[in-house]
Amino acid sequence: MHYQRIALIGMGLVASSMSQAIRRHDKGVEIAGFTRSAETREKAERLGLADRMFDSPGEAAADADLVVLCTPVCSFEGLAREIVPRLKPGATLSDVGSVKAHVARIVGPLMSDGVHFIPAHPLAGTENSGPEAGFAELFDNRWCILTPDQEVKAEALARLTGFWESLGANVEVMDPARHDTVLAVTSHAPHLIAYTMVGVADHLRRITKSEVIKYSAAGFRDFTRIAASDPVMWRDVFLTNKDATIEILGRFTEELFALQRAIRSGDGEMLQQYFERTRAIRQGIVEAGQDTGESDFGRRPRGEN
Ligand code: NAP
Repeated sequence: MHYQRIALIGMGLVASSMSQAIRRHDKGVEIAGFTRSAETREKAERLGLADRMFDSPGEAAADADLVVLCTPVCSFEGLAREIVPRLKPGATLSDVGSVKAHVARIVGPLMSDGVHFIPAHPLAGTENSGPEAGFAELFDNRWCILTPDQEVKAEALARLTGFWESLGANVEVMDPARHDTVLAVTSHAPHLIAYTMVGVADHLRRITKSEVIKYSAAGFRDFTRIAASDPVMWRDVFLTNKDATIEILGRFTEELFALQRAIRSGDGEMLQQYFERTRAIRQGIVEAGQDTGESDFGRRPRGEN
């Protein structure tokens, strides 16, 4: 394994999956863990996700070669303030947060000499939360994007790259702002749209007492899966990736108006051409190995975000 001792800060879906993927690869690695609630700690201990659970993030991080923040993005600053002074020389601090420019801006200045800071984002997840939701295969053939700044040592970057590859992921290095724009298109705006659509159905159900839930069809059910994602994690994503999300939502609104106009004017040709283009995108995702062409898309017990 690329690190002898790894500290996982937060013990939810992603940390639990990391622990199981680490163990799958190398049972000799020592895993230190921290989570703030007694309930999650008890679950993590029952599942054996760490060799030892600690009472504070600083204690868990001391002596670790790699410390990974696996909590909602807005908690990173407070955690980093506790962890950085405890890092041993040569250690790497990383994270799995879904937003990257904010993390570089907030955590970067807290770092001290002699330690490395390499933000990361595994593009793998589900709508489920907590230690019990994790599984060892979560990162298999998924991308993990690293967003180091230019000063980071090549050796530290190669080490973290090798670590994620050993967990099953393909690694790409990217500029943090570019990451946030790409993710606003592929993940953040789609989540907001799903939240909105489910909100519309809920509102309609309340005011009309209609049976939209009982008779929910495939399209709506797929939206509800995404809209069931963790509220705190997604609150933090929108608080910290504000500009890119607003930019993409602006473009979304323009497209929506164009489709609305086509529907109103009965422009079937425009609608069909549009849907043919979007179908080709779906095909491209399947061909890139990022989803299967199975007809139960969106309804697998372990579907991916
Ligand atoms: P999760 O299952 O909800 O677990 C969250 C963990 O963070 C729990 O251990 C929780 O502790 C802890 N936590 C929550 N708020 C905290 C706070 N204010 N201070 C300290 N600890 C706190 O979350 P997750 O899905 O693993 O997501 C973790 C991170 O991964 C997030 O930054 C998210 O953006 C990123 N991510 C998520 C996905 C996904 O699809 N879920 C995919 C890629 C990346 P307690 O339970 O003890 O309170």
